[in-house]
Amino acid sequence: MSKAMLMTAQTNIRSAAKRLNYDEKVIEALLEAEAEHIFEIELNDKNYPAYRIQHNSKLGPYKGGIRFHPGVNIDEVRALATLMSFKTAAVGLPLGGGKGGIAVDPRELSPEDVETLARRYARHLAPHIGSGKDIPAPDVNTNAKIIDWMVDEYEKTVGKADKGSFTGKSMVNGGSEGRPAATGRGGVITLVEYLKARGLIDKPLTVALQGFGNVGYYFAEVLKKYPNIKIVAVSNSKYTWVQPEGIDIKKTTMDTDATPRPEQLTDLQTVTPAPATDIIGVKADILVLAALEDALTEANAGKVQASIVVELANGPVTSAAESILEKKNIITLPDIIANAGGVIVSCLEWQQNLVSESWTEEKVNKMLAELLEKAANGMITRADEAKITLRQAAFELALERLV
Ligand code: NAD
Repeated sequence: MSKAMLMTAQTNIRSAAKRLNYDEKVIEALLEAEAEHIFEIELNDKNYPAYRIQHNSKLGPYKGGIRFHPGVNIDEVRALATLMSFKTAAVGLPLGGGKGGIAVDPRELSPEDVETLARRYARHLAPHIGSGKDIPAPDVNTNAKIIDWMVDEYEKTVGKADKGSFTGKSMVNGGSEGRPAATGRGGVITLVEYLKARGLIDKPLTVALQGFGNVGYYFAEVLKKYPNIKIVAVSNSKYTWVQPEGIDIKKTTMDTDATPRPEQLTDLQTVTPAPATDIIGVKADILVLAALEDALTEANAGKVQASIVVELANGPVTSAAESILEKKNIITLPDIIANAGGVIVSCLEWQQNLVSESWTEEKVNKMLAELLEKAANGMITRADEAKITLRQAAFELALERLV
């Protein structure tokens, strides 16, 4: 499937370039990564394929996460690195795009082995990364703890302190306030700007939410600020729960402050879960995709009942699915703007590290809102003026900055 994501990203770029009359050779060069680090990490007599793709650095150091997942492969990392270059450009950050990963299932390793793998990854890449070159971050199955190990190993290898070399660090190690909620918060900001532009912000609206991890959960939490927008369904990798009365994600059966799983929400205790795939066809005004890539394909796009789709995962709607949505007049808020909240706050973390400061959550959230509102409105205005889709507008704006 990752080949499909790469093709989708490249198709979006080529068609934006065609509309802008850019030279084909310039665009083909832009599709190529500037550097690709493809290597293997040996651990307990096994070799794990590892990657760091440095796609584009025209606007600043490469920026993008590191994923630990058995499905990681070169096409996936290339696609995600390309999307990062367009995401940082679309929201006007002084950063480029990159992505990395190791093809490994970390659940099959002991914590000590995960640490060894993380440290070997950072040591191998040390000559190619750093706060002025390439700033990796966590992604699927990597977290602040893993990033802290990588920073430590990187600093030992290059022999100097450089906290700005990675983002997504723990707070004690130079992380930023507001980072855990940033991508979900950015999804709400983008949606709200769109609803305002269309005069829908005060209307009663319903949401079906696919994925209830970091991004999905915080999207739901921040959305509580708009009581007229009600979440009526949530899903995870196993099930879909539908509750037309609305789901209060703050009311849980737990006695801790941890992030709840859907089955721990009070409002879902009497709901019989349906299969995970059912979330796509739930009757709601807005479908939020916060799980994985290629969630909407030719096979299921016809089932969508919502009139707005919000991409919080990277590449969750394939090109074929998008054509089906367009025919049904369903609007897509594209990933490179809708899920950019995470990279915006990563950029703010890096900027705090460069000047050895630690900003309040209020300040970080305010800066995130200002940057993303501007980017979302720029995309909406461009789409309206040029009579193109929001995705086409976002890619055109990014391309203009990159070429
Ligand atoms: P996560 O691992 O915390 O949560 C993922 C959620 O998706 C879980 O609830 C999981 O059960 C669910 N899921 C997995 N497979 C599913 C399936 N087939 N159907 C329905 N649900 C499924 O991950 P996350 O950090 O919330 O990231 C979600 C997506 O957003 C990923 O694609 C990630 O690349 C993207 N993203 C994340 C960030 C970030 O800051 N975390 C930033 C930009 C993009």
